[in-house]
Amino acid sequence: MKSMKRVVITDYLEPPASIETQVLEGVANVECLLAKNTQELMGELTDADGIILCHEVSITREVVEELHQCKAVVRCGVGFDNIDRKAAGERGIYVCNVPDYGVDEVADHAIAMALACNRGLIKAERTLRKGLQPWDMRSIQPIFRVAGATMGIIGLGRIGGATALRAKGLRMNVQAYDPYVRAGTDKLLGVPLVGLEELLETSDIVSVHTPLTEETRKLIDASALSLMKPTAILVNTARGAVVDTDALAAALKEGQIAGAGIDVLPDEPATSDMPLIQLWQQDRQPPVNLMITPHTAFYSDAGLVEMREKAAQEIRRVLSGEMPKNCVNREFLQ
Ligand code: NAD
Repeated sequence: MKSMKRVVITDYLEPPASIETQVLEGVANVECLLAKNTQELMGELTDADGIILCHEVSITREVVEELHQCKAVVRCGVGFDNIDRKAAGERGIYVCNVPDYGVDEVADHAIAMALACNRGLIKAERTLRKGLQPWDMRSIQPIFRVAGATMGIIGLGRIGGATALRAKGLRMNVQAYDPYVRAGTDKLLGVPLVGLEELLETSDIVSVHTPLTEETRKLIDASALSLMKPTAILVNTARGAVVDTDALAAALKEGQIAGAGIDVLPDEPATSDMPLIQLWQQDRQPPVNLMITPHTAFYSDAGLVEMREKAAQEIRRVLSGEMPKNCVNREFLQ
């Protein structure tokens, strides 16, 4: 009789893991560990054959050293900055992600945040709720016209590209900064590439879509924010640490930029000692033009199912001796 393997979902997803159990039927038993932090993984994964990881824990070198029979660590999502890819590769463990499940949702979310800031939805809603006044445009002035305005995309990958196409549908002029984009993407999408400084100086909406790397950490810092127009809006649906959120809080407070939509923070869940959260929670008049969502840009019912199915299918491929589809640590595999 074939022996069943053990696949562990480390965090976030609650039992019963019916989606993963169905995909891995006949290959592995699936368990949900519901770990709240990385320390809680210690001692729990030594005999795991496959790991599915969300975002509340990290697979550090220390955790990798405890993996005695693991073949694959699959990030149930796009970003894999919470996995030590090199440490895993040195032990012959594939690190994979699910790159394509939520492209539409995140692009929709970025546009929704940009329009909410631009159309004064946050300011009007917060002001009106208090006393039903003013019942006119005074609480939302000034507003620039989106059609004909300039959208600047930082990171013209899958989600950046999908956001660019949506912005074109709004009749915006779209430009992008991406030093590593596949040659010809600008032509495919009809989106000219410009330098970062030019993008920041000339865009009315700046939307961030890069991965988190050593190069992109705090890419949008105080000096980047100071280049933006005072009427401009910043949107970040990528990774929190790409934006210096303390500098963003200061820029919003001082009117250096006009608004921001933030789905991701450097530390999640947020805590009320963060200057950006304090600014957001303040009962100010006029309200600060800042929208924060709890890392939900990826989410739709269909997207969540697709993400979980694809993560489990990737584990199934590896445990069945096939090559993974979306390996992100090839350069380190030994
Ligand atoms: P992708 O790999 O398709 O695209 C990223 C792009 O960024 C690439 O074109 C790359 O060349 C570019 N890039 C890399 N370094 C850069 C730099 N220094 N400056 C400018 N551009 C740079 O990734 P994607 O699938 O489009 O995902 C984009 C981001 O969205 C990632 O950070 C991902 O983690 C995040 N994400 C967030 C959510 C959410 O719920 N908020 C969901 C999915 C993905």
